[in-house]
Amino acid sequence: MKIVIAEYRGFCFGVERAIKKIEKLLHGNEQINYSIGPPIHNPQTIEKLRNEGLRIVNRLEDIEKGRLIVRAHGLSPELINQARARNIEIVDTTCPFVKKVQERACLLNKDGYTIIVVGEKAHPEVQSIIGVTSGNCYVVEKPADLDRLNLTNNKKIGVLAQTTQSNRNFQLITDRLISKNPSKDIEIFNTICQATATRQEEARAIAGRVDLVIVLGGRISANTKRLAKICRDIGTDVHHIETAGEIEPSWFERKNSVGLVTGTSTPEWIIKETINRLEKY
Ligand code: SF4
Repeated sequence: MKIVIAEYRGFCFGVERAIKKIEKLLHGNEQINYSIGPPIHNPQTIEKLRNEGLRIVNRLEDIEKGRLIVRAHGLSPELINQARARNIEIVDTTCPFVKKVQERACLLNKDGYTIIVVGEKAHPEVQSIIGVTSGNCYVVEKPADLDRLNLTNNKKIGVLAQTTQSNRNFQLITDRLISKNPSKDIEIFNTICQATATRQEEARAIAGRVDLVIVLGGRISANTKRLAKICRDIGTDVHHIETAGEIEPSWFERKNSVGLVTGTSTPEWIIKETINRLEKY
């Protein structure tokens, strides 16, 4: 069976940077290190960090004494300020690309724009954008969501994207926004990060030339889920797995080729295990 492995794989720049910082802190001194929610969306890496001492909590109130690590896709500034007020040390591992979106959102807010963020409302990054704009923004997931927005009071609209959005979805939404609001001053900032865009393009290309795609990465990772959707939309069979152990031999019956694409938070050791397993078929 032919195996096509994505060239762009393993941690992206932002995840690698965050993990390195966290591991340094965990091995550094006696402080207890906390994260509100998982610092990245890969359960196997999180398990490893937990074993090294990271404590993952749901609320600020769960932190007694120690240090709060701000995760790669950010935290709301309100929460960070509350932590500071409680004398909790903050270590920020927010990816610089996410920071850029937050800064852009702040500027648009200051300049009086109505802000639209293309993304998933519950995602930590989008929550951080809602936070930096004090809630002055709409979150839109799909083109039809635009119909429920009240944009009558403002001539100026600024549009941003969650860094892990799909370029196609962003394009569809911005096209519809422009056609529905011809008299508005609409500023569009495609803030989808390059690592996301490159992997999406490569996943689309691979899905077009194989019989089956294995998407490897966290089931709750926005980035990885989107890769699986892109491949499915091409019409190719897709299995989204987190570890090599989930692979079933029956998947390869009557298949001549398999593609392997990975999310931006999938660690190299899981990728290697998966490649080894695939090579056995
Ligand atoms: S996916 Fe992009 S924005 Fe997110 S951590 Fe990686 S490099 Fe940063």
